Amino acid sequence: MKIPDIIIAVDGYSSTGKSTFAKRIASEFSFLYLDSGALYRAVTLYAIEHGIISPSGEIDRQALGRALPGLDIHFEAKEDGSRTYIGGKCVEKEIRTLAVSEKVSPIATVPEVRSFVDERLREFGKKKRVVMDGRDIGTTVFPEAELKIFMVADTAVRARRRADEMIRRGENVNLEEVMKNIKERDFIDSHREVSPLKKAEDAVVLDNSAMTIDEQMVWLRHLISEKFSVKETD
Ligand code: C5P
Repeated sequence: MKIPDIIIAVDGYSSTGKSTFAKRIASEFSFLYLDSGALYRAVTLYAIEHGIISPSGEIDRQALGRALPGLDIHFEAKEDGSRTYIGGKCVEKEIRTLAVSEKVSPIATVPEVRSFVDERLREFGKKKRVVMDGRDIGTTVFPEAELKIFMVADTAVRARRRADEMIRRGENVNLEEVMKNIKERDFIDSHREVSPLKKAEDAVVLDNSAMTIDEQMVWLRHLISEKFSVKETD
């Protein structure tokens, strides 16, 4: 299927399968995939490692403000997705731990952190043929995105998916803790002052609670063919 050079914004709640969906879109349509949450996670990892956020969650806003301008966090795009680096070090594994998940949403409420991340994300938007997932891509980062999808799914399904993902990475998992973390992040993400998580007015909702990834792609191809007048068989 031939689709035009557009930006696809995939937003939604934690663990709704945004990255699985976005990666599949990227590989099927030869788009560049970018995971905006990875940048928030990398800033959080840095903050944990440098004592900028305490184990109880207090953020030293001044130290964070001082660190951000010199912080070298970037993506390297690879065929199977992007890798996140702090300085020269790939931190893809470290940023996915529960320790980072527990602190990332408070860090992502800090306006200076959001500007830092937005600046880096918008660089990629210039290229078009980009699919980016996150919480505010369709509302704030790329309000001009030609296709916006807002993903939702049952909380229990989401917790199970996140736990399975962590088990695959060899982490110890407590399903209740995972569920608690998902609910906390949903609450903080949708109630923060700057760029809260919410559906863009022109976004299309995808509830994938009971859908396989193949079914989601069938749904997407249909949507694209209607919206951009392209044939699914081309
Ligand atoms: O997508 P992921 O779960 O990895 O994102 C981690 C966290 O980063 C989210 O819970 C949210 O607090 C923050 N985030 C955000 N805006 C985005 C992407 C992620 O605030 N566009």
